[in-house]
Amino acid sequence: MNNFTVKSLLKEGPNSQKVFIEGWVKTFRANRFISLNDGSCSESIQCVVDFQNTNSKILSKINTGTSVKIEGLLVESQGKGQKSEIKVGKITILGECDMDSYPIQPKKHSLQFLRENAHLRVRTNTFSSIMRVRSNLSFAIHKYFKEKGFFYVNTPIITGSDAEGAGEMFKVTTLEINKDSLNQKNEVNYDEDFFGKETNLTVSGQLEAESLAMGLGKVYTFGPTFRAENSNTSRHLAEFWMIEPEMAFYDLEDNMELAEDFIKYIIKDLINECKEDLEFLNQRLIDEDKSKPINERNELSLLDRLDFVIKNNFKRITYSEAFEILKNSKPNKKKKFKFPILEWGVDFQSEHERYLVEKHFKKPVIIYNYPAKIKAFYMRLNEDKKTVKAMDILFPGIGEIVGGSQREERLDVLKSRIQELNIEEKELWWYLDLRKYGTVKHSGFGLGLERLILFATGMSNIRDVIPFPRTPKSAEF
Ligand code: ATP
Ligand code: MN
Repeated sequence: MNNFTVKSLLKEGPNSQKVFIEGWVKTFRANRFISLNDGSCSESIQCVVDFQNTNSKILSKINTGTSVKIEGLLVESQGKGQKSEIKVGKITILGECDMDSYPIQPKKHSLQFLRENAHLRVRTNTFSSIMRVRSNLSFAIHKYFKEKGFFYVNTPIITGSDAEGAGEMFKVTTLEINKDSLNQKNEVNYDEDFFGKETNLTVSGQLEAESLAMGLGKVYTFGPTFRAENSNTSRHLAEFWMIEPEMAFYDLEDNMELAEDFIKYIIKDLINECKEDLEFLNQRLIDEDKSKPINERNELSLLDRLDFVIKNNFKRITYSEAFEILKNSKPNKKKKFKFPILEWGVDFQSEHERYLVEKHFKKPVIIYNYPAKIKAFYMRLNEDKKTVKAMDILFPGIGEIVGGSQREERLDVLKSRIQELNIEEKELWWYLDLRKYGTVKHSGFGLGLERLILFATGMSNIRDVIPFPRTPKSAEF
């Protein structure tokens, strides 16, 4: 095993020690300069070849994409830009790379082209940076909750409860899909199925997390989530990762405070841990903006946006306040919204959320106390009987990044909500039990990891922040 990485060597500085490094060639210039990357950081290390004393057969095999092992001395760099470089003693070709057919040429590729080559795109600077940011964010999330005394719990991926998200779920079955699997009423005979009942992939671990919070106090899940929503947007995936904290004894106010503190913590941590990747992505966005018309360019750079979230208090407003602002807004009056804001009770669309965040308040916004009609059955009913203690956090460029609520802990109120919505009460027997045996006020929220990464990287399509995206009509790799 090699303990040297490009990152460690660049950090170490020139000291004439003997080192060896394994990686992929980014570029090879003048039969002399290999720029080598091993994924440890966005930078590559320059390796200078003594071409007169190197086998020409080996030299001819070095090109973009070739994997090599390089042994040599870590010396002061003669060129600009880097402190140190490797004076190459020996090169071993590990894997050749056919330059003519290799999709990742040393030039700019479109994001769409790279999506079609998702198995190779992590070798580009952009995608390796995104994946390092993703890894750091995930780690910071665990770190935050550990520091705050939360327990990490795993809720089932195959779920037997379909109370939430009916219609949006992927079925899990071992039945053959043919006429034989139908019963006399021409319905699928789930008694015959693996679990003896209908099962689905989870759309959220919340209900089960609530059960765990009722004994552990503060818990969080961090796992894959599946939604068969046929919305081909740049913010929705069919498979995404969600972080769902659930806290006993927290009310909505506590919930909002935690969510804001949590987001600020992980962004701060990212800025400390991933400086170079963020600087690279920042520049990428500036370059991309240059090719756009002025009115479509970002007002703030990526680094400024991250800073902006840390420094500003999120604006908290009720749904009713947000409704009034939107109703009286210019785009609404001028009929610029695709979905006009007419009557109290409508659900806000991404265009409305972005208007509030980007144009009106110019800071992250938390909307709370939503109409009960547009929210889930488990959210705590307010005194007015019309609104529930829900909260959504809205971010610039993205819209909703967090959705959460204080949960209904009163058995009778919860039961009547379940009846109103025609949900099968017996499916939720265990969930109702939590309200029967030592019920307490509690709250939680869900943060979509990929939405957070979109924000943190400045990317605009959610397909570009997960290694292998699953979307309608697309499950390659
Ligand atoms: P939206 O209105 O954007 O579809 P939602 O109301 O369905 O979101 P929730 O059910 O509250 O979202 O889920 C919690 C969080 O999970 C969201 O705030 C978002 O960050 C993320 N999320 C939801 N659906 C998706 C998806 N299809 N792909 C990626 N992330 C998602
Ligand atoms: Mn949704």
